[in-house]
Amino acid sequence: MTSPPTVTVWNEYRHERDSDAVAEVYPNGIHTAVADGLDEQGFETRTATLDDPEHGLTPEVLDETDVLTWWGHRAHDEVRDDVVERVCDRVRDGMGLLVLHSGHYSKPFKRLMGTSCALKWRESGERERVWAVEPGHPIAAGLDESFVVPRAEMYGERFDVPAPDDLVFVSWFEGGEVFRSGCCYTRGKGRIFYFRPGHETYPIYYQEEIRRVLGNAVEWAAPTDGPTPRFERSDPAEDVDVDVE
Ligand code: ZN
Repeated sequence: MTSPPTVTVWNEYRHERDSDAVAEVYPNGIHTAVADGLDEQGFETRTATLDDPEHGLTPEVLDETDVLTWWGHRAHDEVRDDVVERVCDRVRDGMGLLVLHSGHYSKPFKRLMGTSCALKWRESGERERVWAVEPGHPIAAGLDESFVVPRAEMYGERFDVPAPDDLVFVSWFEGGEVFRSGCCYTRGKGRIFYFRPGHETYPIYYQEEIRRVLGNAVEWAAPTDGPTPRFERSDPAEDVDVDVE
């Protein structure tokens, strides 16, 4: 792509409006913190939230979106099924999707994975060490071999997702659990990256390494101009003598 990818940062935006503890960390919403981190890396961003009309994800917005990021937690069920279908269709058509933290249980991610996407969790403010286990992957560019998130919610295996096409990050937690924290998938023409760190009461989306990963992931997930496959009765591509009905 010649111009930087256009990113729509989607957020449920409920915790920040009714919890002082969350508003203290993310006074303008998690979406603003995520968008600021991408803005400063030169991406064109817009934000959309659950309570916007059509959740801010009209066909026009999605058509103009190269990469959509998704943060949701307690209101996954309030996301309209027709909008979920619209998002999934756009992904299969080439739009990138970054699923953040508790977005593991969002309707679009579950639909695109086809599994429960369930996991273990514990909200205890423990230390997380994130290891870049695929150091040559573009999403790991510019990082050290590992970095620390000082206070995190624990997510533990098993994480019930399909085996990722590429596993870029693995997390270790003080309590002993491990977790596949950076998982790459392809669905249709679209690329999907699940990234674990990020929780509404910890300032994780301000952390330099996290912002770097999200910027790298936007670049990686941006649409390519690959061919559009046709699913239809097909004449031979080569000049062969076959009986075709
Ligand atoms: Zn959380």
